[in-house]
Amino acid sequence: MKIYNSQTHKTQELVPHTAGKISMYTCGPTVYHYAHIGNLRCYIMEDVLEKYLRYCRLEVKRVMNITDVGHLSSDGDTGDDKMLSGAKREHKTVMEIAKFYTDAFFADCGKLNIKTPDVVESATDCIDEFISVISSLVDKGYAYFAGGNVYFDTSKLDEYYAFGDVSEENLSVGVREGVEEDENKRNKADFVLWFTKSKFDDQELKWDSPWGLGYPGWHIECSCISMKNLGEYLDIHCGGVDNQFPHHNNEIAQSEAFLGHKWCGCWFHVHHLNTAGGKMSKSSGEFMTVSLLESKGYDPLVYRFFCLLSHYRKSLAFSYESLDNAKASYDKLVAKAAALLKEPSEEVNSADFERLKAKFTDALDNDLNTSLAITALYDVLKADTNAATKLALIEDFDRVLSLDLVKAAKRANESAGEQAPAEILALAEQRAAAKKAKDFAKADEIRAQIESLGYSVKDTREGTKLIKS
Ligand code: AMP
Ligand code: ZN
Repeated sequence: MKIYNSQTHKTQELVPHTAGKISMYTCGPTVYHYAHIGNLRCYIMEDVLEKYLRYCRLEVKRVMNITDVGHLSSDGDTGDDKMLSGAKREHKTVMEIAKFYTDAFFADCGKLNIKTPDVVESATDCIDEFISVISSLVDKGYAYFAGGNVYFDTSKLDEYYAFGDVSEENLSVGVREGVEEDENKRNKADFVLWFTKSKFDDQELKWDSPWGLGYPGWHIECSCISMKNLGEYLDIHCGGVDNQFPHHNNEIAQSEAFLGHKWCGCWFHVHHLNTAGGKMSKSSGEFMTVSLLESKGYDPLVYRFFCLLSHYRKSLAFSYESLDNAKASYDKLVAKAAALLKEPSEEVNSADFERLKAKFTDALDNDLNTSLAITALYDVLKADTNAATKLALIEDFDRVLSLDLVKAAKRANESAGEQAPAEILALAEQRAAAKKAKDFAKADEIRAQIESLGYSVKDTREGTKLIKS
């Protein structure tokens, strides 16, 4: 498989550190509020990547953190503590907020058919690991203690700007309105590994450490949780494109300083879901959640399908109009699968199966081109092969796409079947067979018979409907 690596800015062959195995790390949610559908775009595309790697018979181990401490409202070391402001907003403790929104996140993932990673760890469960890695960074001279906090010293690195496109200028936080320059920092790019003195005296969660009672910075979490569970070499690190700087940049700095060698082979960044007003966020515009989409009558899998229609490296514009278009296409796919289920069962044609599957794997092998993979699915429906082969391919592709097309088709057939009694259904089947055999006179005769029994027959693009008259 070829995949784009944001660090090298090149599409490269994915070569795991250990043949046949993939270690994969995902930046998890900050659990101070519901995830919005922009956040979830990121997790949907990462889920497709993970499932495709498994589909290609690689042994994947995927790890994700839950950020329940240390994430400030700016991704640098400034702004309010997100967890604390969530707790204040709801008059609850930080841990109550964390539990509630962690459960809500996985409930949303469930509705979107996003698989839970093999390992999920909360930052607050890994404090000892953070302290151990930070202590080692201090011993090695990569970190210093100043004004009560421990900072990573970026001047000790040969290269700090791992993703290449950020300048010192952008780091002049002092020039931004309402943000004070941290005078403890030796270099502008330095970042906090451990806080004991922050402006949040009311920080609820604090732990003993060699530097005093305090709490970890955000960036150290991901490095430690990854290294703890996946070892010294990471094959793929995932996240939203906004995490590139400073979060992922800082992860590389501290992990490689700690390990003494290159850490991660490939950075997979999902681009943003945008609204008319810009990047979708929790604080601006309508707060768009999976539940909101459901309340408006959308199946969450329609949103998944909407995301798969675009490449993960392109920003995606959200509008209800485009979601409606995705819904119409999704419903048609389900109806086509439902019609295939009604056809008499035959043997799967393995030559056709392999030929049509190759288009699907070619698309995904080429930097996870999901929109071309969906085209391959349409090609299956149009192909000159039998229904059994088509259904086998749809189910096979769904191991990666997770759109539940056959499941939804079975449901649709069942609920259509519920409306008409067996006698009518049997007649409808005889009529379908007559039509297939081009015996239209017989088909018309059966239609009249069905109508005389109180049902009208409607042939739609989605298949035949039986309506009680
Ligand atoms: P957070 O819970 O804020 O830490 O974000 C969770 C993930 O969602 C991170 O990987 C972010 O980079 C990503 N993300 C945030 N906003 C968007 C957006 N509008 N579109 C896509 N991904 C996003
Ligand atoms: Zn992270």
